[in-house]
Amino acid sequence: MGVSPTLADILAARAVLRGRADATPLVPSPYMSMRSGQDFLLKLELAQPIGAFKLRGALNAVMSLPDGVAGVTCCSTGNHGRGVAYAAALRGMRAVVCMSRLVPQAKVDGIRALGAECQIGGGSQDEAQIEARRLVEAEGLVEIPPFDDPRVIAGQGTIGLELLEARPDLETLLVPLSGGGLAAGVALAAKAIKPGIRVVGISMDRGAAMRASLAAGRPVEVEEVESLADSLGGGIGLDNRLTFTLCRDLLDEVVLVTEEEIRDAMQALYFEDCLVAEGASVVGLAAILSGKLALTGPAATIITGRNLDMDRFTRIVTGQDVTLGDRLLKGKPHGT
Ligand SMILES: *Cc1c(COP(=O)(O)O)cnc(C)c1O
Repeated sequence: MGVSPTLADILAARAVLRGRADATPLVPSPYMSMRSGQDFLLKLELAQPIGAFKLRGALNAVMSLPDGVAGVTCCSTGNHGRGVAYAAALRGMRAVVCMSRLVPQAKVDGIRALGAECQIGGGSQDEAQIEARRLVEAEGLVEIPPFDDPRVIAGQGTIGLELLEARPDLETLLVPLSGGGLAAGVALAAKAIKPGIRVVGISMDRGAAMRASLAAGRPVEVEEVESLADSLGGGIGLDNRLTFTLCRDLLDEVVLVTEEEIRDAMQALYFEDCLVAEGASVVGLAAILSGKLALTGPAATIITGRNLDMDRFTRIVTGQDVTLGDRLLKGKPHGT
Protein backbone atom coordinates (compact mmCIF):
# COMPACT_ATOMS: atom_id res chain seq x y z
CA MET A 1 0.00 0.00 0.00
CA GLY A 2 2.77 2.43 0.84
CA VAL A 3 4.75 1.44 -2.22
CA SER A 4 5.39 4.09 -4.82
CA PRO A 5 3.50 3.49 -8.08
CA THR A 6 5.27 2.81 -11.37
CA LEU A 7 4.45 3.24 -15.04
CA ALA A 8 2.94 -0.26 -14.95
CA ASP A 9 0.47 0.88 -12.27
CA ILE A 10 -0.47 3.89 -14.37
CA LEU A 11 -1.06 1.66 -17.41
CA ALA A 12 -3.20 -0.64 -15.25
CA ALA A 13 -5.16 2.38 -14.00
CA ARG A 14 -5.82 3.38 -17.57
CA ALA A 15 -7.60 0.07 -18.18
CA VAL A 16 -9.76 0.67 -15.10
CA LEU A 17 -10.69 4.19 -16.23
CA ARG A 18 -11.36 3.35 -19.88
CA GLY A 19 -14.77 4.59 -20.97
CA ARG A 20 -15.42 6.08 -17.52
CA ALA A 21 -12.85 8.83 -16.92
CA ASP A 22 -10.38 8.99 -19.76
CA ALA A 23 -9.71 10.76 -23.04
CA THR A 24 -10.54 14.35 -22.12
CA PRO A 25 -9.93 16.89 -24.91
CA LEU A 26 -6.53 18.53 -25.43
CA VAL A 27 -7.16 21.84 -27.17
CA PRO A 28 -4.86 24.61 -28.38
CA SER A 29 -5.11 28.03 -26.77
CA PRO A 30 -4.35 30.66 -29.41
CA TYR A 31 -4.26 33.36 -26.74
CA MET A 32 -1.81 31.54 -24.47
CA SER A 33 0.28 30.57 -27.51
CA MET A 34 0.47 34.23 -28.46
CA ARG A 35 1.33 35.31 -24.90
CA SER A 36 3.93 32.60 -24.31
CA GLY A 37 5.38 32.55 -27.81
CA GLN A 38 5.06 28.76 -27.92
CA ASP A 39 2.44 26.20 -28.85
CA PHE A 40 0.26 26.10 -25.73
CA LEU A 41 -2.37 23.43 -25.04
CA LEU A 42 -5.09 22.96 -22.46
CA LYS A 43 -5.97 19.49 -21.15
CA LEU A 44 -9.63 19.87 -20.31
CA GLU A 45 -10.14 17.78 -17.19
CA LEU A 46 -13.11 20.01 -16.47
CA ALA A 47 -14.90 17.79 -19.02
CA GLN A 48 -14.87 14.83 -16.60
CA PRO A 49 -18.30 13.59 -15.45
CA ILE A 50 -17.70 15.18 -12.02
CA GLY A 51 -16.17 18.34 -13.49
CA ALA A 52 -12.65 17.58 -12.25
CA PHE A 53 -9.70 15.23 -12.84
CA LYS A 54 -10.01 13.73 -9.34
CA LEU A 55 -12.40 11.14 -10.73
CA ARG A 56 -9.39 9.33 -12.16
CA GLY A 57 -7.66 8.60 -8.87
CA ALA A 58 -10.89 8.04 -6.95
CA LEU A 59 -12.21 5.55 -9.50
CA ASN A 60 -8.95 3.66 -9.66
CA ALA A 61 -8.90 3.35 -5.86
CA VAL A 62 -12.59 2.53 -5.33
CA MET A 63 -12.68 0.00 -8.20
CA SER A 64 -9.77 -1.87 -6.60
CA LEU A 65 -11.68 -2.56 -3.38
CA PRO A 66 -13.01 -6.06 -2.77
CA ASP A 67 -16.76 -6.64 -2.80
CA GLY A 68 -18.45 -6.46 0.55
CA VAL A 69 -16.69 -3.49 2.14
CA ALA A 70 -19.01 -1.43 4.33
CA GLY A 71 -18.36 1.74 2.35
CA VAL A 72 -15.76 4.41 1.77
CA THR A 73 -14.81 7.69 3.40
CA CYS A 74 -12.38 10.49 2.62
CA CYS A 75 -11.39 14.00 3.53
CA SER A 76 -11.56 16.46 0.70
CA THR A 77 -11.35 20.10 -0.40
CA GLY A 78 -14.36 19.20 -2.55
CA ASN A 79 -13.37 17.55 -5.80
CA HIS A 80 -11.87 14.37 -4.40
CA GLY A 81 -15.07 13.88 -2.39
CA ARG A 82 -17.07 14.27 -5.56
CA GLY A 83 -14.93 11.67 -7.30
CA VAL A 84 -15.24 9.24 -4.40
CA ALA A 85 -19.01 9.82 -4.24
CA TYR A 86 -19.33 9.13 -7.98
CA ALA A 87 -17.16 6.01 -7.83
CA ALA A 88 -18.95 4.68 -4.75
CA ALA A 89 -22.32 5.19 -6.42
CA LEU A 90 -21.12 3.17 -9.44
CA ARG A 91 -20.35 0.30 -7.08
CA GLY A 92 -23.46 0.77 -4.95
CA MET A 93 -21.33 1.58 -1.91
CA ARG A 94 -21.95 4.00 0.94
CA ALA A 95 -19.71 7.11 0.89
CA VAL A 96 -19.07 9.64 3.67
CA VAL A 97 -17.09 12.76 2.68
CA CYS A 98 -15.44 14.81 5.44
CA MET A 99 -14.81 18.49 4.69
CA SER A 100 -13.78 21.64 6.52
CA ARG A 101 -15.87 24.80 6.63
CA LEU A 102 -13.54 26.33 4.00
CA VAL A 103 -15.03 24.13 1.29
CA PRO A 104 -17.43 26.18 -0.89
CA GLN A 105 -21.12 25.29 -0.57
CA ALA A 106 -21.37 24.58 -4.31
CA LYS A 107 -18.89 21.74 -3.89
CA VAL A 108 -20.74 20.32 -0.86
CA ASP A 109 -24.04 20.41 -2.77
CA GLY A 110 -22.48 18.61 -5.72
CA ILE A 111 -21.29 15.78 -3.47
CA ARG A 112 -24.68 15.40 -1.77
CA ALA A 113 -26.36 15.29 -5.18
CA LEU A 114 -24.34 12.15 -5.94
CA GLY A 115 -25.85 10.44 -2.91
CA ALA A 116 -22.90 10.72 -0.52
CA GLU A 117 -23.16 11.80 3.12
CA CYS A 118 -21.25 14.99 3.98
CA GLN A 119 -19.59 15.67 7.35
CA ILE A 120 -18.73 19.36 7.66
CA GLY A 121 -16.60 20.41 10.60
CA GLY A 122 -13.37 22.05 11.58
CA GLY A 123 -11.45 24.88 10.01
CA SER A 124 -8.88 22.89 8.08
CA GLN A 125 -8.30 19.92 5.86
CA ASP A 126 -6.34 18.32 8.73
CA GLU A 127 -9.44 18.32 10.93
CA ALA A 128 -11.47 16.74 8.12
CA GLN A 129 -8.74 14.11 7.91
CA ILE A 130 -9.13 13.30 11.62
CA GLU A 131 -12.88 12.80 11.14
CA ALA A 132 -12.29 10.43 8.20
CA ARG A 133 -9.88 8.38 10.33
CA ARG A 134 -12.49 8.24 13.09
CA LEU A 135 -15.08 6.87 10.65
CA VAL A 136 -12.67 4.14 9.62
CA GLU A 137 -12.43 3.05 13.26
CA ALA A 138 -16.04 3.59 14.25
CA GLU A 139 -17.91 2.40 11.16
CA GLY A 140 -15.48 0.16 9.33
CA LEU A 141 -15.34 2.38 6.26
CA VAL A 142 -12.32 2.23 3.95
CA GLU A 143 -10.46 5.51 3.60
CA ILE A 144 -9.64 6.75 0.10
CA PRO A 145 -6.87 9.36 0.58
CA PRO A 146 -7.06 12.45 -1.64
CA PHE A 147 -3.46 12.25 -2.91
CA ASP A 148 -1.07 10.19 -0.78
CA ASP A 149 -2.06 6.80 -2.11
CA PRO A 150 -0.49 4.71 -4.90
CA ARG A 151 -3.82 3.95 -6.61
CA VAL A 152 -4.83 7.61 -6.54
CA ILE A 153 -1.46 8.75 -7.89
CA ALA A 154 -1.61 6.10 -10.63
CA GLY A 155 -5.11 7.24 -11.60
CA GLN A 156 -4.05 10.88 -11.90
CA GLY A 157 -0.96 9.71 -13.82
CA THR A 158 -3.11 8.56 -16.72
CA ILE A 159 -3.33 12.25 -17.68
CA GLY A 160 0.40 12.16 -18.35
CA LEU A 161 -0.03 9.19 -20.70
CA GLU A 162 -2.79 10.93 -22.63
CA LEU A 163 -0.80 14.16 -22.92
CA LEU A 164 2.31 12.54 -24.37
CA GLU A 165 0.43 10.17 -26.63
CA ALA A 166 -1.44 13.11 -28.15
CA ARG A 167 1.61 15.38 -28.32
CA PRO A 168 4.97 13.60 -28.05
CA ASP A 169 6.62 16.95 -28.78
CA LEU A 170 5.52 18.54 -25.49
CA GLU A 171 8.51 20.04 -23.72
CA THR A 172 6.91 21.47 -20.57
CA LEU A 173 3.94 20.41 -18.46
CA LEU A 174 2.43 22.96 -16.05
CA VAL A 175 0.64 21.11 -13.26
CA PRO A 176 -1.49 22.67 -10.51
CA LEU A 177 0.01 21.48 -7.22
CA SER A 178 -1.56 20.88 -3.82
CA GLY A 179 -1.10 17.51 -2.14
CA GLY A 180 0.85 16.42 -5.19
CA GLY A 181 -1.10 13.37 -6.32
CA LEU A 182 -1.67 14.95 -9.71
CA ALA A 183 1.86 16.28 -10.13
CA ALA A 184 3.46 13.05 -8.92
CA GLY A 185 1.34 10.88 -11.20
CA VAL A 186 1.72 13.08 -14.25
CA ALA A 187 5.47 13.47 -13.72
CA LEU A 188 5.90 9.72 -13.20
CA ALA A 189 4.13 8.91 -16.45
CA ALA A 190 5.63 11.74 -18.48
CA LYS A 191 9.22 11.15 -17.38
CA ALA A 192 8.92 7.40 -17.90
CA ILE A 193 7.93 8.08 -21.50
CA LYS A 194 10.10 11.14 -22.13
CA PRO A 195 12.84 11.57 -19.49
CA GLY A 196 13.84 15.05 -20.63
CA ILE A 197 10.41 16.62 -20.24
CA ARG A 198 10.11 19.54 -17.81
CA VAL A 199 7.35 19.24 -15.22
CA VAL A 200 6.56 22.37 -13.21
CA GLY A 201 4.24 22.42 -10.20
CA ILE A 202 2.28 25.60 -9.55
CA SER A 203 0.60 26.63 -6.29
CA MET A 204 -0.87 29.81 -4.82
CA ASP A 205 1.56 31.83 -2.75
CA ARG A 206 -0.43 31.64 0.49
CA GLY A 207 -0.72 28.20 2.07
CA ALA A 208 1.41 26.23 -0.40
CA ALA A 209 2.18 23.21 1.75
CA MET A 210 4.14 21.18 -0.79
CA ARG A 211 6.38 24.10 -1.73
CA ALA A 212 7.07 24.88 1.95
CA SER A 213 7.80 21.19 2.59
CA LEU A 214 10.17 20.92 -0.37
CA ALA A 215 12.01 24.02 0.88
CA ALA A 216 12.25 22.55 4.40
CA GLY A 217 13.33 19.12 3.12
CA ARG A 218 10.52 17.38 5.00
CA PRO A 219 6.70 17.64 5.26
CA VAL A 220 5.73 20.76 7.20
CA GLU A 221 2.44 22.40 8.09
CA VAL A 222 1.33 25.76 6.75
CA GLU A 223 -1.60 27.89 7.77
CA GLU A 224 -4.60 27.30 5.53
CA VAL A 225 -6.15 30.49 4.21
CA GLU A 226 -8.94 31.24 1.77
CA SER A 227 -7.85 31.42 -1.85
CA LEU A 228 -9.40 31.73 -5.28
CA ALA A 229 -7.67 28.38 -5.80
CA ASP A 230 -9.63 26.71 -2.99
CA SER A 231 -8.98 23.26 -4.45
CA LEU A 232 -5.27 23.77 -3.80
CA GLY A 233 -5.74 24.27 -0.04
CA GLY A 234 -4.76 21.83 2.69
CA GLY A 235 -1.57 20.29 3.97
CA ILE A 236 0.39 17.36 2.60
CA GLY A 237 0.28 15.43 5.89
CA LEU A 238 3.21 15.31 8.32
CA ASP A 239 3.19 11.54 7.80
CA ASN A 240 3.28 11.89 4.00
CA ARG A 241 4.51 8.61 2.51
CA LEU A 242 4.60 9.11 -1.24
CA THR A 243 3.84 12.46 -2.83
CA PHE A 244 6.49 14.47 -0.97
CA THR A 245 9.29 12.20 -2.16
CA LEU A 246 7.88 11.92 -5.68
CA CYS A 247 7.45 15.66 -6.06
CA ARG A 248 10.92 16.26 -4.63
CA ASP A 249 12.47 13.81 -7.08
CA LEU A 250 10.38 14.46 -10.20
CA LEU A 251 9.36 18.12 -10.30
CA ASP A 252 11.83 20.41 -12.02
CA GLU A 253 10.55 23.44 -10.15
CA VAL A 254 7.62 24.86 -8.24
CA VAL A 255 6.24 28.32 -9.02
CA LEU A 256 3.94 30.32 -6.74
CA VAL A 257 1.30 32.74 -8.02
CA THR A 258 -0.64 35.46 -6.21
CA GLU A 259 -4.40 35.83 -5.88
CA GLU A 260 -4.27 38.76 -8.32
CA GLU A 261 -2.45 36.60 -10.86
CA ILE A 262 -5.01 33.82 -10.41
CA ARG A 263 -7.83 36.32 -10.93
CA ASP A 264 -6.24 37.62 -14.13
CA ALA A 265 -5.77 34.07 -15.41
CA MET A 266 -9.40 33.14 -14.66
CA GLN A 267 -10.44 36.17 -16.68
CA ALA A 268 -8.06 35.30 -19.52
CA LEU A 269 -9.34 31.74 -19.76
CA TYR A 270 -12.92 32.97 -19.69
CA PHE A 271 -12.69 35.84 -22.17
CA GLU A 272 -9.98 34.52 -24.48
CA ASP A 273 -10.67 30.76 -24.49
CA CYS A 274 -14.34 30.98 -23.42
CA LEU A 275 -13.87 28.45 -20.62
CA VAL A 276 -15.28 28.48 -17.10
CA ALA A 277 -12.79 26.98 -14.65
CA GLU A 278 -11.81 27.06 -10.99
CA GLY A 279 -8.97 29.19 -9.68
CA ALA A 280 -6.96 26.01 -9.07
CA SER A 281 -7.22 25.23 -12.79
CA VAL A 282 -5.61 28.38 -14.06
CA VAL A 283 -2.42 28.61 -11.97
CA GLY A 284 -0.43 27.30 -14.95
CA LEU A 285 -1.75 30.15 -17.06
CA ALA A 286 -1.05 32.56 -14.21
CA ALA A 287 2.60 31.48 -14.07
CA ILE A 288 3.02 32.33 -17.75
CA LEU A 289 0.92 35.49 -17.88
CA SER A 290 2.73 36.92 -14.84
CA GLY A 291 6.09 36.37 -16.48
CA LYS A 292 7.23 34.07 -13.66
CA LEU A 293 7.79 31.20 -16.06
CA ALA A 294 9.15 31.23 -19.60
CA LEU A 295 8.71 28.53 -22.24
CA THR A 296 11.16 27.31 -24.86
CA GLY A 297 8.91 24.80 -26.64
CA PRO A 298 5.42 23.32 -26.80
CA ALA A 299 3.68 23.25 -23.43
CA ALA A 300 0.44 22.03 -21.89
CA THR A 301 -1.35 22.77 -18.66
CA ILE A 302 -4.13 20.83 -17.02
CA ILE A 303 -7.41 22.68 -16.58
CA THR A 304 -8.19 20.62 -13.53
CA GLY A 305 -11.80 21.44 -12.69
CA ARG A 306 -14.87 23.65 -13.00
CA ASN A 307 -16.70 23.13 -9.71
CA LEU A 308 -17.38 26.73 -8.89
CA ASP A 309 -19.67 29.01 -7.00
CA MET A 310 -21.00 30.80 -10.09
CA ASP A 311 -21.99 33.96 -8.22
CA ARG A 312 -18.42 34.40 -7.09
CA PHE A 313 -17.06 33.41 -10.51
CA THR A 314 -19.22 36.08 -12.14
CA ARG A 315 -17.88 38.68 -9.73
CA ILE A 316 -14.30 37.66 -10.47
CA VAL A 317 -14.53 37.69 -14.24
CA THR A 318 -16.49 40.95 -14.34
CA GLY A 319 -13.81 42.65 -12.28
CA GLN A 320 -15.67 43.14 -9.00
CA ASP A 321 -14.13 42.91 -5.53
CA VAL A 322 -14.30 39.54 -3.73
CA THR A 323 -13.58 38.72 -0.10
CA LEU A 324 -11.15 35.94 0.76
CA GLY A 325 -11.52 35.31 4.47
CA ASP A 326 -10.37 38.51 6.16
CA ARG A 327 -8.84 39.89 2.98
CA LEU A 328 -10.40 41.91 0.18
CA LEU A 329 -9.24 41.11 -3.35
CA LYS A 330 -9.77 44.24 -5.39
CA GLY A 331 -11.56 43.72 -8.68
CA LYS A 332 -9.97 44.50 -12.04
CA PRO A 333 -11.69 43.97 -15.39
CA HIS A 334 -9.93 41.84 -18.01
CA GLY A 335 -7.47 43.71 -20.16
CA THR A 336 -7.31 46.84 -18.00
C1 LIG B 1 -7.13 18.45 -6.04
C2 LIG B 1 -7.05 19.47 -7.10
C3 LIG B 1 -5.81 19.95 -7.56
C4 LIG B 1 -4.48 19.51 -6.96
O1 LIG B 1 -4.26 18.13 -6.96
P1 LIG B 1 -3.25 17.45 -5.91
O2 LIG B 1 -3.17 16.03 -6.31
O3 LIG B 1 -3.84 17.63 -4.55
O4 LIG B 1 -1.96 18.19 -6.01
C5 LIG B 1 -5.82 20.87 -8.60
N1 LIG B 1 -6.97 21.32 -9.13
C6 LIG B 1 -8.18 20.89 -8.72
C7 LIG B 1 -9.40 21.43 -9.37
C8 LIG B 1 -8.26 19.94 -7.69
O5 LIG B 1 -9.47 19.53 -7.28
